[in-house]
Amino acid sequence: MPRVAGVEDLRTDVALGCRILGLEDQGDLVWGHVSGRDPGGRGVWMKASGLGFDEIGAENVILVSWDGDVLEGDGGRHSEYAIHTELMRARPDVAGVVHTHAPWAVAFASVEAPLRPVSHDGTLFVPPDIARFTKTGDLILTRELGEALAATVGERNAALMVHHGIVTCGADVVTAVMTAVFLERACRTNMRALAAGGPKTWSSDEEALAKREHVYSPRMAWDYLARRLAASTREGSVHPPA
Ligand SMILES: [Zn+2]
Repeated sequence: MPRVAGVEDLRTDVALGCRILGLEDQGDLVWGHVSGRDPGGRGVWMKASGLGFDEIGAENVILVSWDGDVLEGDGGRHSEYAIHTELMRARPDVAGVVHTHAPWAVAFASVEAPLRPVSHDGTLFVPPDIARFTKTGDLILTRELGEALAATVGERNAALMVHHGIVTCGADVVTAVMTAVFLERACRTNMRALAAGGPKTWSSDEEALAKREHVYSPRMAWDYLARRLAASTREGSVHPPA
């Protein structure tokens, strides 16, 4: 098969994104996945199944076709690949997708409270209130469910998958991964405020939209978390990728 330029960098980004999500406690044992759009248009490069986020190296990132066939790479294909293929099919501007069972987001979705921009991270998602996928809390095992989830995301950067997890997306893998990190942190802050009786104040729509434009640099935060991973690997407290 001819080499496609950019693939090795993409596989490296998907793998590092997995390890960052592991560092941020978004792993659910071996479940959850990250993908990047194949530069050759053949499908998506996504994490192989059966491994935890913290175990993923570039060699564990496989090419899955738009119809779910494994075209390149070794390892199993996650059953929920349609989350990635259908969102990228619906959104030509999206080249990175994340799905995790982020624990604070799952708990937050269950209380049916509006997400409030009480901290910087919340302003990336509201206003309007965060999108919520409620068609099923079960696995996304068909193209139809993938399409329905993509429709819920619409032109936005994320949705809560009620009784299940989250989906986030971006123009690249870095943005998609960091959007998942920011969404989980926003839900955690909301849950803390809800546990203390509920937030009494939060950014106005005007302030939140202004903050959304300049508060965060996803790349800067990604680089920081990558350095933390590297440091923890040196200390031997995180398994280095095989
Ligand atoms: Zn899932």
